[in-house]
Amino acid sequence: MDLSAIRHNVRLLAEHASGADMMVAVKADAYGHGLVPTARACLEAGATRLGTAYVREALALRAAGVAAPILSWIITPGEPLEEAARLGIELSAGAPWVLDEIAEAARNAGRLVRVHLKADTGISRGGATIDSWPALVERALAVQAGGAIEIVGLWSHLACADIPGHPSIERQLAVFDEALSIADKAGVSSGAIRHIANSAALMTLPQARYDMVRPGIAVYGLSPIPELGDFGLRPAMTLAARLASVKRVREGTGVSYGHLYVTDRETTLGLVPLGYADGILRNATNLAEVLAAGRRRRVAGRVCMDQFTIDLGDDQAEAGDEVILFGPGDDGEPTCQEWADSLGTITHEIVTRIGSRVPRVHTDGR
Ligand SMILES: *Cc1c(COP(=O)(O)O)cnc(C)c1O
Repeated sequence: MDLSAIRHNVRLLAEHASGADMMVAVKADAYGHGLVPTARACLEAGATRLGTAYVREALALRAAGVAAPILSWIITPGEPLEEAARLGIELSAGAPWVLDEIAEAARNAGRLVRVHLKADTGISRGGATIDSWPALVERALAVQAGGAIEIVGLWSHLACADIPGHPSIERQLAVFDEALSIADKAGVSSGAIRHIANSAALMTLPQARYDMVRPGIAVYGLSPIPELGDFGLRPAMTLAARLASVKRVREGTGVSYGHLYVTDRETTLGLVPLGYADGILRNATNLAEVLAAGRRRRVAGRVCMDQFTIDLGDDQAEAGDEVILFGPGDDGEPTCQEWADSLGTITHEIVTRIGSRVPRVHTDGR
């Protein structure tokens, strides 16, 4: 994990944000990049806030000594909200019962909790629909008057920001503006931070920046809209391994489970000690490419739980040689985007699925 790439990306995104605050989404172990070192690099480069999906992810940041403001946005009944209140974690509320649980936690902790009210402007995940928004705002103002919470944010999330020109984008922004105006008229402070933009919106929709942007994937150097190019972002993650075995085999040798690959001549097979338990999706079988012994090689045969094989032909290699699955692409290795394209998925899924037994090594530059 190249932390200098993370810092480069945060600075580049700050230019696009042109004055808006930046909360970096560091959920899912900072998209697989290692939560704490990545969060610190983001803050060093100028991000002012961190966002996590779950409360326990925010607690892990506090346990590591990260003091920056953190917002957690997925809350189910029975979460450790009292601990969150004690540690000053900001919480999202999109339904009245969440406000009630937050208020109780705030009273038990003896701490005021800073709350962001979430509007569902059209993605139909969390948050209050525009029909139930006025009641949510009223309830939040009542709880605030009781001294348990402070409403510090008003927010939402876009469904199709990565599909430029999608008609839902302008519709959602219009509903968001309506929600903001309802909150304003009801008496929510004009100092509440308004935010809706993920990476794709930050890069392509200036009108969606409001007071703060919430990029995730772009911070890690992966394009939020691959059809529009890489935006000058630099991939931070390189996934590498060392060959565990190299051996000559005869023509007609079946390789791995199901013999889905059969050598068409005498050749050299290399064994890469990473498998689907490490996030190498099983449908990379006979499909995805890696860089080994100076050239691209396709995965040869079935990806197993802990290993897969590559066909090295007649090239020289030995156990211990480095294999690069993906990286920035500077040395001819595939990029994470190429892996995502060949597997029919998005880069978010590739990086967040790298398993916990793969060591995260953080470097500064390469
Ligand atoms: C994950 C997430 C983001 C970041 O999205 P990217 O597409 O990775 O930029 C922003 N906001 C919310 C609510 C999220 O869940």
